[in-house]
Amino acid sequence: MNTLLWLRTDLRAHDNPALAAAAEGGAATALFLAAPGQWRRHGDAPAKVDFWLRNLRELSRELGRLGIPLKLLTVRDWSEAPDALAGFCRAHAIGHVHANAEWAVNERRRDEAVASGLRAMGVDWTLHHGASLLRPGTVLTGKGDCYRVFTPYARACRERLRTAPPRALPAPRPQAPPAWRADPLPAAFEGFNAPDDAVRALWPAGEAAAGERLAAFADGVIDAYREQRDFPSLPATSCLSPYLAAGVLSPGQALRAALAANHGELDSGKAGAAAWIGELLWREFYQHLLAAHPALSMRQPMKPETAAVPWRQAPEDLRAWQQGRTGIPIVDAAMRQLLALGWMHNRLRMVAAMFLSKNLLIDWREGEAWFMSHLVDGDLASNNGGWQWSASTGADAVPYFRVFNPLSQSRRFDPDGAFLREWLPELAHLEARAIHDPSPMERAAAGYPLPIVDLAQSRLRALEAFGGLPRPP
Ligand code: FAD
Repeated sequence: MNTLLWLRTDLRAHDNPALAAAAEGGAATALFLAAPGQWRRHGDAPAKVDFWLRNLRELSRELGRLGIPLKLLTVRDWSEAPDALAGFCRAHAIGHVHANAEWAVNERRRDEAVASGLRAMGVDWTLHHGASLLRPGTVLTGKGDCYRVFTPYARACRERLRTAPPRALPAPRPQAPPAWRADPLPAAFEGFNAPDDAVRALWPAGEAAAGERLAAFADGVIDAYREQRDFPSLPATSCLSPYLAAGVLSPGQALRAALAANHGELDSGKAGAAAWIGELLWREFYQHLLAAHPALSMRQPMKPETAAVPWRQAPEDLRAWQQGRTGIPIVDAAMRQLLALGWMHNRLRMVAAMFLSKNLLIDWREGEAWFMSHLVDGDLASNNGGWQWSASTGADAVPYFRVFNPLSQSRRFDPDGAFLREWLPELAHLEARAIHDPSPMERAAAGYPLPIVDLAQSRLRALEAFGGLPRPP
């Protein structure tokens, strides 16, 4: 029988359950459905779409070695997916389609429509599970409810992973290729210009590149992860997020590398490896929430009462934040890092997000969309989760009065100002003591703006705005 692997956010040949099943079930072909209109509506970043395309190219080569041609179809948006898949299956006599599940509402609706179309024409459809360590919806409280708080959720995950760690799937054995060839891949998808070569060089494509990055991290950097991961000037985190988000690297591969570095221990042994595994579980948590709460895909807050926050309409402040011109050095350095690299350090994502949603009292959805349209690792579950955590609208035990002071964060996590100097060249001459909050004279001399908001007053304004909300139901 001819089988089809429908590739989505699982751009890898190894440890890919849908690919393994497609190859096991017959003569496999792979298909990628490009939907530039959908990606534009979703606000995906050009750097991210370019990263996918480069990874598809690597994957096409890898699949070619296995005798599996990679075909490409372009649709305007997901509404055309059912017809596209049906037509492809008819033309290539496909009997069974395999894919790995995606959890956002649009993608689930798309899959339901595709599945019913295929079944109506007698083609089998199987959804596998390859995007997280544990299948969303399977880690539940004793009462069978969905966890809303990270710590008990992570504890339950660790219990499951201790008894049943996810096993590695090898790449399938080479097959005799079918009669059709792989499609050539375009230089760019319509409407998505490639980023410059320097950005591309930061994120080399392919499973081999991801594997090398993972090995280098697990081989040493991971040991100091717990102490150093919050310091943005240090190369202390893995920078694997784009690979995990596009599925070039599987979460199981990441976990196994950390376990190997930690003698098989999940939460004891080396503190660095245990902390890193904890971050992989944050990624799980947000997928688990996205799967359980369709409202998150529609950008609704997890805490319904926070829908009534009186967000400010302040386009000039929003623009200053987007462009790294707020006059708060750590926020500006972070936002300029995002513009330049398509990536931002996790501590700074929290600082920048909290500054926008609390100090500027601008709707977190503005920030979520801006991040999505610039991040090479943009991922609905993690981005939405991180934004809602920062804006206190999400699933979080800590109440709204947690408001980071960006200046304290700056002094604590960039004590000598190395990160600020890298991203704010106009302030690079200032000493550590001055650079976190330059005087008006130093700002004027450097052409650097005064703060667009008073931190203490704006904190109080946020507390009032949140404090005045109706009590949760
Ligand atoms: P490491 O520290 O090496 O962590 C390893 C992996 O664990 C990461 O690659 C990532 O997959 C996962 N991870 C780490 N921290 C988190 C976290 N807090 N939440 C979820 N997963 C985590 N991550 C994305 O992948 N895509 C996003 O669109 C995204 N948007 C975010 C928006 C905000 C406002 C915030 C606060 C966080 C966001 N994150 C997002 C999470 C986190 O900032 C990045 O995953 C991390 O900075 C990536 O760097 P790294 O690969 O070096 O991480």
